[in-house]
Amino acid sequence: MKGGLALSRPANSTIDDQIHTLPLQATYYLPAVSYSRAVLHSQYEPGQSVLRGESIAQGVIAPTSGTLRAQVNHAWPHPSHLEVPTWELEADGLDTALPLAPLAQNVTTQDKLSRLTMAGVQGLGGAGFSTAKKIERVLQHTERTLIINAVECEPGVECDRMLMQSHASSVIEACHALVEWIQPTQTLFAIEDDKQSAIDALTSDKTHQQNPVLTWVTLPAVYPSGAESLLVQRLTGLHLAPNQRAADAGVLCVNVGTVMAIYNALNGNAAIDRLISVSTQDLMHTTTLSVRFGTPLNAVLKFAASQHTGLAEALRLNPTAVQVGGPLSGFSRPIDNAPILAGCNALLIGPSHQSQPPSACIRCAECATVCPANLLPQELYTAARSDDHDVLKHYRLDACVLCGCCDVVCPAHIPLTQWFRFAKGSVAEQAQNEADAALARTRSEQHAARVEQRALEKAVADEQRRSAAAAAKHAKADIQAALARVKRKKPSA
Ligand code: SF4
Ligand code: SF4
Repeated sequence: MKGGLALSRPANSTIDDQIHTLPLQATYYLPAVSYSRAVLHSQYEPGQSVLRGESIAQGVIAPTSGTLRAQVNHAWPHPSHLEVPTWELEADGLDTALPLAPLAQNVTTQDKLSRLTMAGVQGLGGAGFSTAKKIERVLQHTERTLIINAVECEPGVECDRMLMQSHASSVIEACHALVEWIQPTQTLFAIEDDKQSAIDALTSDKTHQQNPVLTWVTLPAVYPSGAESLLVQRLTGLHLAPNQRAADAGVLCVNVGTVMAIYNALNGNAAIDRLISVSTQDLMHTTTLSVRFGTPLNAVLKFAASQHTGLAEALRLNPTAVQVGGPLSGFSRPIDNAPILAGCNALLIGPSHQSQPPSACIRCAECATVCPANLLPQELYTAARSDDHDVLKHYRLDACVLCGCCDVVCPAHIPLTQWFRFAKGSVAEQAQNEADAALARTRSEQHAARVEQRALEKAVADEQRRSAAAAAKHAKADIQAALARVKRKKPSA
């Protein structure tokens, strides 16, 4: 891989090698929008009871049993810092699950895909795409490659390592089940060389040793080699065009946590939680929590602090700011009750590395040297500042994987990735506005056509009515004339 950064944890840092499960919360917050802010439709009404695992809308699963309250505008764990319509789920404390039987071996592909959708399985590696849709695209190809992505290359993000290390047998079983379903020509398990404990746990598993269907690919821990487009290119030589998904080329690249979620869903367990790493901003202390989706951020941090004195101290010193995501790819937000969602793999307590005031670009080109996507971040920055979509396109904004490497090396402390994130948002918004305008135009044209059609039909009906009335009038006149004639012919008495 070109560029990137070899990052390591500080010496003497501590990692808590236990997974702690957050207790049930009184209230969960479930955004009624997708990650791209599309409003989700639902049949559910306020006051309605739901069970754990029940699907409220596409990709929105009740994390426990309770009662849905009316939608409110609520904080959203998104770089836009917007508030979005959100369901409040008041937990009843019973945590009653929706009965969902494991799928039988001989069910159809469609049954399996429907199960993944119903169980809310989405990518846990970042953007939260629908896993069913991704698999469906891959299955359209006869030659398939499966890449299990266990490349978690930001320091301070330890959740995948903890999953593989603590549940090695289940991970291997889940990988085998996915291989059985997808029938790939090759299955590559990509993992970094600094995760030896996880590699040992997985490779010594009995099921793996009896049936070694996975090909291990150990990569040097250089950030961001886990980004899908870069990983696919590195492992298969396939260059994905900007906006092209690996799935459209027959490659299923799926995060190891998502592989577990697929397996769990097929076996009757909806996707209601994930592992999250919580660290101090200096990465001296890290712990791993199992958190249900919709859990408020402040509750997660409070619980993490209760499990680890280093985190408690960091939270005491930094009670207001947190970084959602890893040290490079994450974004800052206030500590509030914004919910934890599928794409959140880490929380860092304290102000981010971007807290120094930026100065003017000195054109040193350090950012271009580390860019793994071979971009010119300094040019993208200028274009992003002027919101010039043509220039952003010219400098291939769409190929930026928002890894944050350029931020780290920039001597001017320019928050380049934040600019690129917002520029992507601006481009997407314009595309959405154009699509909305085109849809509105089509609807307006269809409406006008319907109005014209109705007017035409009415005119025809009116004409028919008029003709019928005239005909009836003529008929009546004819009858009256005939009667008069008959009357006239009658001899008088
Ligand atoms: S690293 Fe920073 S200062 Fe140097 S060219 Fe890039 S944006 Fe400009
Ligand atoms: S321009 Fe994008 S891909 Fe390149 S280093 Fe910066 S954030 Fe990463």
